[in-house]
Amino acid sequence: MFNKRTKIKQLLQSEQTGHEVTVMGWVRTFRNNQFIALNDGSTNNNVQVVVELGLLDDATLKRITTGASLKVNGIVVASVGKGQSIEVKAKSLEILGDSDAEKYPLQPKKHSLEFLRHIAHLRFRTNTFGSVFRIRHSLAFAVHQFFNDKGFVYLHTPIITASDAEGAGEMFQVTTLPIDGSAPKYPDGSINYNEDFFGKPTNLTVSGQLEGELGAMAFSEIYTFGPTFRAENSNTTRHLAEFWMIEPEMAFYDIEDNMNLAEEFIKYLIQYAMDHNRDDIEFLSQRLAEEEKQLPQDKRSELGLIEKLEFVLNNAFERITYTDAINILLESNHYKKKKFTYDIKWGIDLQSEHERYLVEKHFKKPVIVTGYPAAIKAFYMRMNDDGKTVAAMDILAPGIGEIVGGSQREERLDKLEARMKDMHIPAEEMSWYLDTRRFGTVPHAGFGLGFERMVQFVTGMTNIRDVIAFARTPKNCEF
Ligand code: ATP
Ligand code: MN
Repeated sequence: MFNKRTKIKQLLQSEQTGHEVTVMGWVRTFRNNQFIALNDGSTNNNVQVVVELGLLDDATLKRITTGASLKVNGIVVASVGKGQSIEVKAKSLEILGDSDAEKYPLQPKKHSLEFLRHIAHLRFRTNTFGSVFRIRHSLAFAVHQFFNDKGFVYLHTPIITASDAEGAGEMFQVTTLPIDGSAPKYPDGSINYNEDFFGKPTNLTVSGQLEGELGAMAFSEIYTFGPTFRAENSNTTRHLAEFWMIEPEMAFYDIEDNMNLAEEFIKYLIQYAMDHNRDDIEFLSQRLAEEEKQLPQDKRSELGLIEKLEFVLNNAFERITYTDAINILLESNHYKKKKFTYDIKWGIDLQSEHERYLVEKHFKKPVIVTGYPAAIKAFYMRMNDDGKTVAAMDILAPGIGEIVGGSQREERLDKLEARMKDMHIPAEEMSWYLDTRRFGTVPHAGFGLGFERMVQFVTGMTNIRDVIAFARTPKNCEF
């Protein structure tokens, strides 16, 4: 058997000595023709492999370069060197794969995140991305743990959809018709989608919510966790064209139950990473502190990453209405000094500068905003008794802005139909959705958490492109 190895994380944790082990991994550094720092991705900590003089011939020694992969068999001994309590004294060493030192792009020095984005196929091998992607994994696992423990059913909603009513963002069309102009057309020149693969126009999903609601009307509580696609033509540090979203949908929940669940969920995810990825979070915390030293004092965060996470865990999220939010903004010195780019008045969609002011300057903690004007929100959100606002809730997080968007859904058929008519949403095409209101409708609610934004929050990474393996953004689809 080839793969009888000890993972480096496990080896370093056990601190036992005297026994024989096999370790495999990639060379990070090789010093004095004697000390190899070997990493296998299980942790950022390398194991030191000591190659005693005379064990290997010169030709083999030359092949131990940064990035080369090795299989090492040896004895675990106490280390006299600094920074590690044990090391492996090699008995035999096999080079599994060479790595040409002249050509290998990852040198043992600090590279910029920007540079690493261009070599995203290799960046997993750096400490920063090792930590980020182990945390991403943990958070994904924790999502399932959280909902499974609560008895939610994991529903796989479709990736290809024919419904364009959600209106959550611009969609990518899915078609097998030729795009060179030769697609079958009607006499008036419009495309005959009867001839297309599905016999109608289809898109990549922007949200699994509408299908999620169908599930909630049978299982009571469901969640989805899958990829979503938005042809967002905005180059920001918080938008991707392909991102992962978690969307729980619950029958017998009102807006308050919804907020409570979302807050509990976010805290659970943070706590899970703190408990299971402490080393990685500590590493990233230091990295962020280093990075922020370059910034002017007023641009630096008041709290370090770990302190920020602890603070969020230990404090209730602020809960305010949209109307409160507008008033706070209007009364701020920031507004009086005309420092906002976008105008503020009741009815506007809060811009990211407004959201950031509320969480970063005013409250200095996550904020849940409810009761948005109906006019700026989707058709399915429940109308409040004032007839002007809907039972929507957005959660805004420091450094990120909107991390969750959700609402109590309109369960009253007549109100929902009227709203759809107002918004020119064809009721015939949405008949399947309206059936849930026709047959045993119940109060229900749900929300969407952007998974990458959550990973950004926990890792402190400022650019969303650095928390997904291979980012899809406008004019960029590499790897
Ligand atoms: P934003 O105003 O930031 O564009 P949104 O209002 O379009 O967000 P929703 O439609 O409510 O967002 O989607 C639910 C969640 O999905 C958001 O709170 C956010 O966390 C995440 N999200 C939305 N769009 C993107 C995107 N393009 N890339 C990554 N995450 C996203
Ligand atoms: Mn958006």
